[in-house]
Amino acid sequence: MKVEIDKYAGFCFGVTRAIQEAEKNSEIEIACLGQIVHNAKEEERLNKLGMKTVSKKDFPSLSGKKMMIRAHGEPPETYLQAEKLKIQIIDATCPVVLKLQQRIKEYYNLNKNNSIIIYGKKGHAEVNGLVGQTNGQAIVISSIEEAEKLDIYKNIYLFSQTTSDYYKYQEILDFLEEKSKNFHGNNEHFKAFQTICPSVKNRIPKLKSFCLAHDIIIFVSDPNSSNGKMLFSICKETNQNSHFVTSPTDIDKSWFINSKTVGISGATSTPLWLMENIKKEIISL
Ligand code: SF4
Repeated sequence: MKVEIDKYAGFCFGVTRAIQEAEKNSEIEIACLGQIVHNAKEEERLNKLGMKTVSKKDFPSLSGKKMMIRAHGEPPETYLQAEKLKIQIIDATCPVVLKLQQRIKEYYNLNKNNSIIIYGKKGHAEVNGLVGQTNGQAIVISSIEEAEKLDIYKNIYLFSQTTSDYYKYQEILDFLEEKSKNFHGNNEHFKAFQTICPSVKNRIPKLKSFCLAHDIIIFVSDPNSSNGKMLFSICKETNQNSHFVTSPTDIDKSWFINSKTVGISGATSTPLWLMENIKKEIISL
């Protein structure tokens, strides 16, 4: 049986950068605000090196210490609170997220009556950081049903969380564009931005080819990873024999009966070492 790891799976550039920063500062027991990456196994590895995961309620005890902001970014009030408490920030916000934050802020500041709409997951750390650029005024939607309820008489600026599903975003974009055009009689009151990260978007066609090239797909991710969920749904649509696992103990021997090729893939938050452990486990079976 041939077992292959998807060469395009594994940490994206933004996550790699944040993890390198955590490793570089591990000897000073750096604090990371929130889970550094949506993968509990990788978080455990970094905790053993000395990194500590903290939340905002820990801020008073961090005064005078270093605290890292992960790739998802944070809203402006986090920086203000940290500054007041003299917490030194190591900012590992992904440059792609940072650019999106700046763009949202720019369009919000153009005219506070404009509607800033963000397609993404409510409460997700990146989305909270994006909404924070608009003083909490941006509206977060995650479905066409929610898009249907939006006030269409305003100027609409539509953005997406960087890890959203490209096709679903396109559906919402087309729907709102049409609705705005019908209401105003022209295209001048609606503008949409392609803000899905290329690391996620470009993986979709490659993942589909990978899924078609194997009898079984083992997709490794954490259930909390947004892009993990989205990429796994693509695996499932493309190859029915796709299984979601978080660790080698989830592997079930019966999945591999009569299969000649197994493909292992993962999210942008899945470490390569974990996929390699899964590969070893499959081979040992
Ligand atoms: S998925 Fe893209 S935007 Fe998100 S952390 Fe990775 S590189 Fe940055």
